[in-house]
Amino acid sequence: MATGYAYHEVFGWHDTSSATGLLPSDPAAGLQPYSHFEHPDTKRRMHELVVVSGLIDHLVRVPTREATDEEILRVHSPEHLERIRTQSELPKGGDAGDGISPFGRGGLSIARRAAGAVIECVDAVLAGTVADAYALVRPPGHHAVADSGMGFCIFNNVAIAVEHARTVRGVERIAVVDWDVHHGNGTQSMFYADPDVLTVSIHQDNVFPPRSGAVDERGEGAGRGCAINIPLPPGTGDGGYLHAFDEVIVPAVRAFRPDLVVVSSGFDAGGMDPLARQMVTSEGFAAFTRRVLDVAAECCAGRVVMAHEGGYNPVFVPFCGLAVLQEMTGVHVLDDPFHALLSGMTGHDLKPAEADVVAEVVASVARDAPRPPVLST
Ligand SMILES: [Zn+2]
Repeated sequence: MATGYAYHEVFGWHDTSSATGLLPSDPAAGLQPYSHFEHPDTKRRMHELVVVSGLIDHLVRVPTREATDEEILRVHSPEHLERIRTQSELPKGGDAGDGISPFGRGGLSIARRAAGAVIECVDAVLAGTVADAYALVRPPGHHAVADSGMGFCIFNNVAIAVEHARTVRGVERIAVVDWDVHHGNGTQSMFYADPDVLTVSIHQDNVFPPRSGAVDERGEGAGRGCAINIPLPPGTGDGGYLHAFDEVIVPAVRAFRPDLVVVSSGFDAGGMDPLARQMVTSEGFAAFTRRVLDVAAECCAGRVVMAHEGGYNPVFVPFCGLAVLQEMTGVHVLDDPFHALLSGMTGHDLKPAEADVVAEVVASVARDAPRPPVLST
């Protein structure tokens, strides 16, 4: 069965305006106006590569739509939605909440569509019209918390889709795997006390949000054990990441036995990203994908929905995305021309400091395992 793919041109119209990387431009501080790191090109160029390479012919397009108030309010406060609505009507738009997450006039409808695209992918997978699906959305979502946007995110697209799957489609247990290089703090916070949603975030230690995503953040109450964090040191390459997948992520998902797996797919752990310091190659991202697809095949008939998050190198991200989609479809259309350059650098083998972090997480999971499903007799 085919892989679904959701994208809408309006995602390129989400306006992060003029900035100096992620700071507001300020000539007095020497901050010459430039573009925001979270600009349209990474996602737009990924989509265009999917089309130009011909991979689009092997994907089933999933139509997008705008998420409704009801869908957004399952995870966000009415005050947050109202602030976005009010600012979206201003001539120059506003900011999602932390001063580094600008959006232009009309940004509400684009943010609604990003969330709605992930919902539609969930519905397509659950209906069985596609085996799995990738939502190439913008703005991203995994930093957004209940009462605020954060870290370039307005609404938490993945969390909204998870609650849709549970509330409307009756899915009981969902595992969220977040391989964006930054901590999936927003998603984790929304399900921190929930025993039916496993959140696993693999990220660079203490990058964003600051002091978030430590090994000892393991969930609370009935959800104790259902949050897992793997904060890898800077410089980690494919070897360290795949060690963490094999020792922590795959066994944790297998033990949790989800009915659906949702991936927060960021490509900012890629070796040429301006916002982090990891070394992952496009082959690495393909290998993450293979592992997630395989464990989902064991647990839940391969039901996987991927939602695009970060990734800020406009020339490299498209090849990382293509590698993931090639793994999902099983169709190879193009090699990554950057692969020889990046894989030729040292740093891809598992290093002792990376193994130490993974061992610490393995020990923590052994002490506080996620609650296994209750099997009916
Ligand atoms: Zn990120």
